[in-house]
Amino acid sequence: MRWEDLTGDEFPEAVKQAESVCLLPLSCIERHGHHLPLGTDMFIGRELCRRAAQLEPAVIFPDFFFTQILEARHVPGVVGIEPELIIRLLENTCREIARNGLKKIVIVNTHGGNDHLIHYFAQIQLASRRDYVVYVPQPAYQAEESSTAAQWETAIDGHAGERETSMILAIRPELVRPGSLPADDEGMPLGRLKPLRDQDTDLGIWWYADHPTHYCGDGRPATAQKGEAWFTDRSRTLAKAIRTIKDDKEARRLQDEFFGKVG
Ligand SMILES: [Zn+2]
Repeated sequence: MRWEDLTGDEFPEAVKQAESVCLLPLSCIERHGHHLPLGTDMFIGRELCRRAAQLEPAVIFPDFFFTQILEARHVPGVVGIEPELIIRLLENTCREIARNGLKKIVIVNTHGGNDHLIHYFAQIQLASRRDYVVYVPQPAYQAEESSTAAQWETAIDGHAGERETSMILAIRPELVRPGSLPADDEGMPLGRLKPLRDQDTDLGIWWYADHPTHYCGDGRPATAQKGEAWFTDRSRTLAKAIRTIKDDKEARRLQDEFFGKVG
């Protein structure tokens, strides 16, 4: 059930059917090499949520793409807004979702640059008392079905590579420009900060150092079939998480108990 497709009259029934669960797809508008559209992460998140909600009913919030992508602001078409505003907007959005009766908010992130943000956001839920819980399942990081995991041919694949190209081939093939796929090693890390990265030292400029054209991997072995298999596998994983979240009563109880003690 897509939030924007419902009428106001239908909304309360949708909340009931969804057992109070709202999926909040987090993506961004970002360069994806030469051959994929700027909305790649948005299209992937939208499709993943659509398929998961078919398996386990949930209301799907419209795309939330004002997220962390400062590292791509040197390339055309990117929308990178202020960090403080991202947090405020996300927090405000969650409050509005909850005010509409959806008290279990499930963040479904499809943009790697948000990896830290989503965990930080989960943690700052403890800043003040609230009548909802934010859950951050990570279907993309859980073990894939062996048949799906075995299909990938490339060892390095971080951005606009075999996986993401396969996903877009599966859902929006008309948006893939195969003729623009580099034939050289543009997708391999430049290693300009390798001594630091080898020692697990994090810094904001690391992605620019390795992948200034926002291409990591090799999109050439991508196929629509591989993308289709990925979506089938990942939507099942997400649906399983949604079921567990629907059944969960403990998180909210503990949250209330915690705030009772905080005072
Ligand atoms: Zn992406």
